[in-house]
Amino acid sequence: MGFLIQEQKELVEMMYGPAAEDYLLILDSLGDFFEKEIEPTARQIDVKAEFPRENIRKLFEQGFTSMGFPKDFGGLELPWPIYVAAMEMCGKACASTALSLAIHGTCCEGVRQFSNPGQKKEYLPQMISGKKFAGFSLTEPGAGSDARNLQTTARLEGGQWLVNGTKMFTTNGGYCDLYFLFAKTPKGPSAFLVDAKLAKSSKHIEKLGYRGSVTAEVVFENAHAPKESLVGTEGEGFEYAKKMLYGGRVTVGAISTGIARAAFDKAVRYSKDRTAFGKPLSDFEMIQSKLADMLTDINASRLMVYRAAHLKDRGKPFESEAAQAKLFASEKCLRVCDEAIQIHGGYGYADEFDVHRHWRDARLNTVGEGTSEIMRLLVSKNIIKGP
Ligand SMILES: Cc1cc2nc3c(=O)[nH]c(=O)nc-3n(C[C@H](O)[C@H](O)[C@H](O)COP(=O)(O)OP(=O)(O)OC[C@H]3O[C@@H](n4cnc5c(N)ncnc54)[C@H](O)[C@@H]3O)c2cc1C
Repeated sequence: MGFLIQEQKELVEMMYGPAAEDYLLILDSLGDFFEKEIEPTARQIDVKAEFPRENIRKLFEQGFTSMGFPKDFGGLELPWPIYVAAMEMCGKACASTALSLAIHGTCCEGVRQFSNPGQKKEYLPQMISGKKFAGFSLTEPGAGSDARNLQTTARLEGGQWLVNGTKMFTTNGGYCDLYFLFAKTPKGPSAFLVDAKLAKSSKHIEKLGYRGSVTAEVVFENAHAPKESLVGTEGEGFEYAKKMLYGGRVTVGAISTGIARAAFDKAVRYSKDRTAFGKPLSDFEMIQSKLADMLTDINASRLMVYRAAHLKDRGKPFESEAAQAKLFASEKCLRVCDEAIQIHGGYGYADEFDVHRHWRDARLNTVGEGTSEIMRLLVSKNIIKGP
């Protein structure tokens, strides 16, 4: 079986009919790339907690980040579900690489949707081609789920924005060229695209999983940003952040599906290789039942993720669908990875078979880009009050 699996091919065919052939050629070739070039690096990246700079460079070269962007800006103008299918494979190959690129992709999408024509022309081609790498800086020590409680400020002084405040958990922080930064201005929360050199410091945060993806506390102290760094309209920043996160959640759902599939494949292989009581583990009904549940959850996750991506692509509301997809895929991914460890017995807990890496990576996905609790709040708000 290649890296692009049959279930993914079938969904692409279902969505695009005859046009699927071209998309599948692209995905198949990317799948080979993930299998040969990216997956073999994943274990060492985790063990050494090493930023996957080389993987990111190679994937920029492959046009990974440009997939969903307009040709006018150097993009490949592919439908968003095709990018999401590629993101699933990236998550399966190396979750740290996938998360770093997904966050950068969210910043590219923010520039595409909300920046003015001048910013777009200057930054979007450089960002999607990888010449400028970005971090999304919303969360603060006192503003996580309660993102409206921003304390970072930006005020105009002498024709420049004076920025002060501390950002928490910025993925790519310290390793990127630009921050898509959110700060309070006199008219409310506003968005800025600023040079990363403006930050006074960025402190790396050690963590359980996604150990190759960098997460940093980023401090701005009397930083002077050009007046033109404001993105869109002053006071609209929170609306922009929310909309960027809708897309981001779909990509986290895709990464979760990929991580779960990686753990599942290892569990299937192990259950056939390992014998107990004179027969392979896969002969035991309790193991078969686990595998059946795992595959069902993965395939259901994929359907929800691709559907949310399809709605986004068609310009339809997808806030609730993105939240549902992220909620379901991330929680199921965690369960699948947990069962994969169980099927490996003691060897699953030990380093040898690498399944605990998937569990450790999966553990973030019910927290990052909005926790499961916040996803449930969003979904229920849409049920009761409407979109
Ligand atoms: C590895 C990593 C990478 C990240 N990357 C980024 C990034 O690139 N950019 C960025 O801006 N942020 C990033 N984050 C931050 C992430 O989005 C936040 O951690 C997350 O939104 C939760 O915020 P918090 O940690 O402050 O938890 P809190 O908001 O303090 O929540 C703590 C607990 O309380 C629950 N809770 C809070 N409010 C409610 C409520 N109303 N009802 C029920 N339960 C509630 C939460 O669900 C959670 O279980 C990252 C975090 C991590 C760990």
